[in-house]
Amino acid sequence: MQNRDTVYIDGQWVTPANNKSIEVISASTEEVMGHIPECGEADVAAAVAAARAALDSWSRTPPAKRGEYLQKIHEGLKARSEELTRTITGEVGMPLKMSVRIQVGLPISHFGVYAKMAGEFQFEERIGNSLVLREPVGVVACITPWNYPLHQIGAKVAPALAAGCTVVLKPSEVAPLNAFILAEIIAAAGVPAGVFNLVTGYGPVVGEALVTHPDVDMVSFTGSTRTGKRIGELAAQTVKRVSLELGGKSAAIILDDADFPAAVKSIVNACFLNSGQTCNALGRMLVPESRYAEAAKLAVEAAQSFTVGDPFADVAKLGPVASGMQRDIVVNYIKSGQADGFELLSGGPEKPEGLAKGYYVKPTIFGRVKSDSRIAQEEIFGPVLALITYKDEDEAVKIANGTLYGLAAAVWASSDARAAAVARRLNVAQVEVNGGPFNILAPFGGCKQSGNGRELGKYGLEEYLEYKSLQFKPAKVS
Ligand code: NAD
Repeated sequence: MQNRDTVYIDGQWVTPANNKSIEVISASTEEVMGHIPECGEADVAAAVAAARAALDSWSRTPPAKRGEYLQKIHEGLKARSEELTRTITGEVGMPLKMSVRIQVGLPISHFGVYAKMAGEFQFEERIGNSLVLREPVGVVACITPWNYPLHQIGAKVAPALAAGCTVVLKPSEVAPLNAFILAEIIAAAGVPAGVFNLVTGYGPVVGEALVTHPDVDMVSFTGSTRTGKRIGELAAQTVKRVSLELGGKSAAIILDDADFPAAVKSIVNACFLNSGQTCNALGRMLVPESRYAEAAKLAVEAAQSFTVGDPFADVAKLGPVASGMQRDIVVNYIKSGQADGFELLSGGPEKPEGLAKGYYVKPTIFGRVKSDSRIAQEEIFGPVLALITYKDEDEAVKIANGTLYGLAAAVWASSDARAAAVARRLNVAQVEVNGGPFNILAPFGGCKQSGNGRELGKYGLEEYLEYKSLQFKPAKVS
């Protein structure tokens, strides 16, 4: 049991103003695995005041020195990686052997990347008679979701601190325990008081108090499109900078000359990773009508390799989804696909056999799904794949672009050149070409209703910087 009754404000672990707490539930046992404080507006006000007070000194700390603190955080995370992995697997349900690499390995890397980049980035540049400075935006509120909780925190907190901003973090109430471990690591790294602050609680109270606070200069949010719209509206009142990483309904296009076995296997893996709770999950597989039967057979075979079970045991490739609420949402989408009469190729709405406890969902595949149906248009955030057929390349592109979202996509063809030509036609922010892997230095974000910012690499650092230009009188030429 991990019980937390204090939050981290101004370099101290403090008891929140009210003494309410929130239960953290294990995804695989449905049992309480810990408690966190339910903060209120007074705690947010204290955290923002601390971040504001720390800003002047932190923003003037030499970037390389800020990088040294990030390096210590990087090492602190490494030292506690086993504990973090078990915590996140409990909270989210991703099998341990994947959690260690993805849920914990990625955030460790983010702190390492920004530790180095802080010292190397060009924060100023001469343009004619001007000196262009890149200065920290100021106090940043980071509001994060539960699906890759520490990765999403790292992708915000590390570049924000590298840029010279101070931070108030509000992690998801569904998977918050890992953030407390991070706060302990940040405290142990000797980061000055007020530079990083942690408050916990519910979005409509703690999140909105941050978003509306006049002393918060920027909100960096990852979560649902619904919440992102609300944050955009509220933040407009104080003209804050807002960076939104939202939902998706990403398509994978398999062109007629692609390596079908490799493509289908890779796409099914990408769809079911983390039980489908990945914002850029490839939830739609677009296949040529003439090769539908082959693709469907391969997809079912790939789904069969997803052994569902206890994420702490060695055999499971698919753990539960994170919460009872998420399980109900996913099951309802599966029922909606059935009600629409699509071919159920694998899985279904029933609980997987032999798993009485835990929010498990069967890995499910629907065939011949209509591209305008609910399960082809809406983000499911569960292990559900829709196979959609197309006549020709133009139709494939039209279907892929035909949702409100614009997050990610994949294209498979016999050559990278052909796949890349199609990738260029997609209204999304990142495309896997013939299974090209995730790159933590490339920009990550969304177009359309998937959001409007970019994270990771130097692009992620730039999100937290403001331009300022100093104009000098040109030197006289004699
Ligand atoms: P969510 O929007 O419910 O919550 C995200 C965070 O926002 C939580 O910390 C929550 O407490 C807070 N929040 C909720 N209401 C709020 C409000 N009114 N004001 C301020 N804060 C509020 O999302 P979730 O269910 O935690 O996460 C799943 C969603 O996140 C999915 O839609 C997924 O696609 C998206 N996501 C996007 C990306 C990306 O990079 N594009 C990455 C991961 C997840």
